[in-house]
Amino acid sequence: MAVIGFIGVGNMGGPMARNLLKAGHQVKAFDLSAELVQKVVDAGGTKAGSAQEAATDVDAVITMLPAGKHVASVYTGDKGILATARPGTLFIDSSTIDVKTAREVIAAAEARGMLMVDAPVSGGVAGAENATLTFMVGGTEAAFAKAKPLLEAMGKKIVHAGGAGNGQVAKICNNMVLGISMIAVSEAFVMAEKLGLSAQAMFDIVSSSSGSCWALVNHCPVPGPVPTSAANRDYKPGFAADLMLKDLKLSQEAARTAKVNTPLGAEATALFAEYVEAGNGPTDYSGIVRMIREMAG
Ligand code: NAD
Repeated sequence: MAVIGFIGVGNMGGPMARNLLKAGHQVKAFDLSAELVQKVVDAGGTKAGSAQEAATDVDAVITMLPAGKHVASVYTGDKGILATARPGTLFIDSSTIDVKTAREVIAAAEARGMLMVDAPVSGGVAGAENATLTFMVGGTEAAFAKAKPLLEAMGKKIVHAGGAGNGQVAKICNNMVLGISMIAVSEAFVMAEKLGLSAQAMFDIVSSSSGSCWALVNHCPVPGPVPTSAANRDYKPGFAADLMLKDLKLSQEAARTAKVNTPLGAEATALFAEYVEAGNGPTDYSGIVRMIREMAG
């Protein structure tokens, strides 16, 4: 069993750290919020007074932070953890961040003789709580092999996506598809409504036809056809529109860097930005159907 430093124990990191404890690992937690660290201590972990302390004398460090700037600062900034960690420590960053920062931080870790992977997740807070997350992992074979058993305590599907940063590439490509498909599905429901086709009939037919997709069958944006979808609880998330917009913006940043034209990705980003600016950021992303209905007139 491993001794693990866990930095960033918020909505996702908190339950992930608790699942490591359940699997028998030791966890030393650090977060800017002492209250969140205490929850991990209550579950059997110990408290670290700083990020560097969480990364000292441990076998592995897992970070689950909001964005690239937080990850860069925790790893390579003033009092960054790479400077003081024991050589050979394994680092796993599970935050969703930009590809460029992920690759830079992994290069900095490798330059110091450490192993590091980017391992963003899908599955949301429920997946973090139930240890059913999917991890998309970028890094060397050696780093992946060392990270896999730890990731298995927090998730059920662990995929090696290739070299450094490729986990982030997989994550933003996936979420760009999800954002675009939710808008496509929403437009179809609104058009069906206007033309007199019931939501249930539209769902029954499209979900077993060539227009079916994951967004429709799992996150159906109108109430009724999929009882577990956020539409049935007034769009309480679920997957917040704020996070969808964050991932779409990351996809567009990556598209610009790679000089790839993604017109539908760009349009989905603009529509989610409009939806979030109207004050809907904390609601489920599928609620964008309401804006599309308004736009339809
Ligand atoms: P969160 O805001 O609940 O947690 C982030 C934590 O990091 C906070 O507790 C914050 O205090 C802490 N933090 C920030 N800077 C720090 C620092 N310098 N040192 C120590 N702690 C610091 O966010 P979350 O929902 O847990 O998401 C974390 C990451 O996972 C994000 O990148 C997000 O995009 C990604 N993600 C979230 C979901 C989801 O459904 N919430 C799903 C998939 C991926």
